[in-house]
Amino acid sequence: MVSSASTVSLRDEVTELLQELIRVDTTNPPGNETAAAELLRAYLEESGVVCDLYARVPERANLVARIPGRGDGPTMLFLSHTDVVLADAAEWSADPFGGELRDGEVWGRGALDMKGQVAASAVAIASLAREGFRPAGELILAATADEEVGAGFGAQWLCEEHPDAVRCDYLINEGSGDRLELGGKPFYLCSVAEKMSAPFLLRVRGRSGHASMPGIADNALVKAAPMITALGEYQPERELTPDVAALLETVTGTKPGSPEEALKRAREIGQTFGELVEPLLSMTLSPTMVTASQKRNVIPAVCDVTVDSRLLPGTTPDEQQAIVREVLGDGEYELEVLEAHGGTRSPIETPLWNAVASWVEEVDPQAKPAPICVAGFTDSHWFREAFGTVAYGFFPSRVMDLELAARLIHSADERVPVEDLELGVSFLCHAAQAIGAP
Ligand SMILES: [Zn+2]
Repeated sequence: MVSSASTVSLRDEVTELLQELIRVDTTNPPGNETAAAELLRAYLEESGVVCDLYARVPERANLVARIPGRGDGPTMLFLSHTDVVLADAAEWSADPFGGELRDGEVWGRGALDMKGQVAASAVAIASLAREGFRPAGELILAATADEEVGAGFGAQWLCEEHPDAVRCDYLINEGSGDRLELGGKPFYLCSVAEKMSAPFLLRVRGRSGHASMPGIADNALVKAAPMITALGEYQPERELTPDVAALLETVTGTKPGSPEEALKRAREIGQTFGELVEPLLSMTLSPTMVTASQKRNVIPAVCDVTVDSRLLPGTTPDEQQAIVREVLGDGEYELEVLEAHGGTRSPIETPLWNAVASWVEEVDPQAKPAPICVAGFTDSHWFREAFGTVAYGFFPSRVMDLELAARLIHSADERVPVEDLELGVSFLCHAAQAIGAP
């Protein structure tokens, strides 16, 4: 346990570092993450942490910092990204790049996603270095570029081009960590799996013609309409994944026997929990965009429908396409996979899970960690795929509630309570010590 005097100073330290990071505009595109990497390097080197910058192009550097291990024990990596999404200052009630501290919260773009965790990771590793911490295996911090666009300058590039710098057994990243009450009991969600984002294009073909004589044409937009309806109404087959089974077991005390039972029990706990669990039991198909004729008086020969689709970890785009063809039946259309990213999971019974659980028990004895699969994907999958890393998304958040945080991420007035930053530092130090102890 840290003394209360050092707790106060770590709180100030993480607050100030986050304020400085927010003031470095790393809006991606273009990113310009090198400025953030240099700021972090200057901060970390003051505490004697060895830092290297790795950059595919000079202005988009990734920072990798490390505390060497005593031997070849397990390697632990704190993963975060320094880029942020665009902020429209007109929508904000504070300067999005001001890093203002207001009523115990740090305001600015990236406060939640995810410069807060960048700062907490840096403060955790700096404070451990100052204490002379020597883990069994290396402790690494990787603050990477280009997560929000994913154009090959950040985590993916590091894993491919500099695997020796970032290879790790365990990894903590963004994605979850919120404290919430389910059935009257408190839980901290910890993301162990991510759905695959696999959007596709449905291209429906017809024959163009003048709109005043519909009989001579074959209207692709009209042909697409029942297909859009069929996709929107389709109820995919449900599957009980290990993460949802474990989630329900944690929350209700017993493992559900089927996906239907899991959903029923989740809904009994509350409507919001039911809504959270439902998309984790199957793939989702959501038609979101459509383009057809560019002119009012021309009947379109082609109608393009973009469908957002998230697959359960383990499901492939080929399986998805086969299902979609079955839903649509025969017809004049083509399907094109637009991309396929993520869709990986890590096991739950691991030393890293034990580290999460023992931290929760220490700071919030009433609460328990609960595993969750998240609908979006993070950079964790690059590490799971490259090195077989056990990667969890966990940055604890107790003061700000889940719904408010979800509304602020990528939106106006993004901010983070200082108390949650401090909680994050405490968790990261604990996890490093638990994994590094053997
Ligand atoms: Zn993020």
